[in-house]
Amino acid sequence: MQENFPTQKLLKWYQKNKKMLPWRVDKDPYHVWISEIMLQQTRIEAVKSYYLRFMEKLPTIEDLANVSIDELFKLWEGLGYYNRARNLKKAAMMIMDKYHGEFPRKEEEILSLPGIGEYTLGAIGSICFSLKVVAIDGNVLRVYSRVYLNYDPIDDIKVKRKIEKHLLELLPKESGDFNQALMELGENICLPKGSPKCEICPLANICQAYSKNKMLEVPIKAKKTNKKIEQYTIFIFNVQEEYAIEKRKSKGILGDLWQFPNVEGTLSKIEVEELFDKESVVNIQELFPYQHVFTHRVWQVQVYFVSLKKKIASSYQWINKTMLLNDYAIPSAFKKIVDWILEN
Ligand code: SF4
Repeated sequence: MQENFPTQKLLKWYQKNKKMLPWRVDKDPYHVWISEIMLQQTRIEAVKSYYLRFMEKLPTIEDLANVSIDELFKLWEGLGYYNRARNLKKAAMMIMDKYHGEFPRKEEEILSLPGIGEYTLGAIGSICFSLKVVAIDGNVLRVYSRVYLNYDPIDDIKVKRKIEKHLLELLPKESGDFNQALMELGENICLPKGSPKCEICPLANICQAYSKNKMLEVPIKAKKTNKKIEQYTIFIFNVQEEYAIEKRKSKGILGDLWQFPNVEGTLSKIEVEELFDKESVVNIQELFPYQHVFTHRVWQVQVYFVSLKKKIASSYQWINKTMLLNDYAIPSAFKKIVDWILEN
């Protein structure tokens, strides 16, 4: 273990360089919690406007507990991973019921809330309650791997545990600032691609990767995830100024969110024409194919515009462009379709 870790230098660097972010104006656990969940998979700059809008509409845990799922999804639209939004509401309801609306302070209580894993516990626990917990995200793993020239795969749970143990030993009483300093260093200085800015890094004097010029050799990942390919044909059903959407099933990916009607597989224009009675259709247009990549799957989509004489299927909701833009949470997997409708 490195004995001479420059903790004070890192903390001073953080005080001087930390970004002024809307969720850093205080240490309110509600603010830190919402921002941390939004920041998973999304960059800081992109999260700011989502966070401000969320807090304007739902300023308290009680507001979050009482919000309708449709309104919550609309606030979340564009961030993806809608299960996270669903868990936020569940956790807020639990805080209202079990902790009288006050965010719990103990490790095991925080961890028992839906959607809160070790990383989020680390962030909330250290920033808001000065608990002795670490918050290890991809940025921290990269900084660590470079400082200690660690060639062990960072996606191996045993390796992660080892790193966690080591960082816990280094953790000062200012645990929140220490955790945030490492994350911010990874975000802005110890960059993942291209050259890290070692000449201005507060850890440069102990960094083994820097001293050996091996910064781009680490971190290492063991697994490559093989994503499942799924193919769909999606229809933009249109009657006069209205378009059909429908709710997805509750279970499974994008559960309970709105989508455009679709079938599995990639249909040719002739196959699509065969689906409809000629009398009911005004016009069928083959639009564009596109691909949407999720964490564990890829959707390959072909889109058709189908203008109809009258509305079909009672399960569809028929909405105009204004409603599409303002009232319904349509996941980003369908964004290209929404954009096409709004532009045409
Ligand atoms: S010296 Fe360079 S490689 Fe090492 S932690 Fe700092 S930025 Fe990263």
